[in-house]
Amino acid sequence: MSLWPGNSFAERRDLSLRGMILALSLITPLRSPADSVHTQQRTVTQLAEGIYEIRHPDAPDKFPQGNTVVIIGDAAVLVVDSCFLPSSARQDIAQIRQWTDKPVRYLLNTHHHIDHNFGNAAYAAAFPGLTIIAHTESAKLMALRHPSFLSQYPQRAVGFRKMLETGKDLDGASLTDVDRQELKERIAGTDAVWAEFRELKRKAPNLTFDHELDLDLGNREVQLKYLGRGNTVGDAIAYLPKEKILITGDLVDHPVPYLGGGFPVEQVATLKRMAELDAETIVPGHGDVLHGKAYVQQEIDLLEAVIVAINQEIAQSIVPPRRRLDEIKKAVEQNVDVKGWRQKFAGDDPENQNFFDTFSLPGLIEAAHAELWPR
Ligand SMILES: [Zn+2]
Repeated sequence: MSLWPGNSFAERRDLSLRGMILALSLITPLRSPADSVHTQQRTVTQLAEGIYEIRHPDAPDKFPQGNTVVIIGDAAVLVVDSCFLPSSARQDIAQIRQWTDKPVRYLLNTHHHIDHNFGNAAYAAAFPGLTIIAHTESAKLMALRHPSFLSQYPQRAVGFRKMLETGKDLDGASLTDVDRQELKERIAGTDAVWAEFRELKRKAPNLTFDHELDLDLGNREVQLKYLGRGNTVGDAIAYLPKEKILITGDLVDHPVPYLGGGFPVEQVATLKRMAELDAETIVPGHGDVLHGKAYVQQEIDLLEAVIVAINQEIAQSIVPPRRRLDEIKKAVEQNVDVKGWRQKFAGDDPENQNFFDTFSLPGLIEAAHAELWPR
């Protein structure tokens, strides 16, 4: 079923994103049965002395919210990602003030997707003098895309109401009773979110970087790095060498990667560079905190398997690959071990499996095809 508005995976991802339910345990190992693409409750995990990860429940319209990481130094605080809802960001700020009286001096936006940065204005209001940092390309996309996203936001509910009226989803398939109920919940939730966004004053990054930016928070070093394209054109990560903590943004998401767009061919190299860093704790953009690099390697393996299969199909015919996307997609889904990959990422959870089948895998194939066919 396809309930999301938008003309491409990239747009669907920007405008919507399936995701969420639970996340009941705080620190979980690879393939934890408790982790899910849905998040129902707010959880806080201490990663080290003065370093915390906050996971947020999905917004009322079922939009997933990115993780936030709070890093407290002797002189200042760095926050990585301000999540989606201003109300959630304000809740985080109240929590930070319980942890420390140091000011939040820096806020990093790992990338331009709004589920990681629509809380920016809440931080700017709470901490005068705040510096908001992003990769140069991410800052450009935020300036280009966010205004229209905000103005168009109420149209999401219009699209959902149209589906209810016609009884058909975006692909023309008939709605089930479960689909109808979900659409009604999303319509109600969209109204609730719009009540927050109507007054939103967007706050753009005021410091950009291209390759690396080191921050000294006072006896606490944080390295901000751009390791190459992947999830977007401007993914930034944060790395704490002493604490061996790596904060990845959506280059890594658990338990199922968000692969509905981006640059998966380049992402392989980016993830390999990331895996060279000496890190033991990995905080993904969504999902549970990870220990060790096994999950990152699993994501690399999936990307490489699909890219090999697409290249093989591209070579099968002299007809230009851009005219054969559907054919190539079907062949790739037959030639890679979809069942095995689904099991590795989604386990037995039907919602995780649905996310893998309807978002991650087709999005990966479409994006990798787009990257490969001109070469
Ligand atoms: Zn995200």
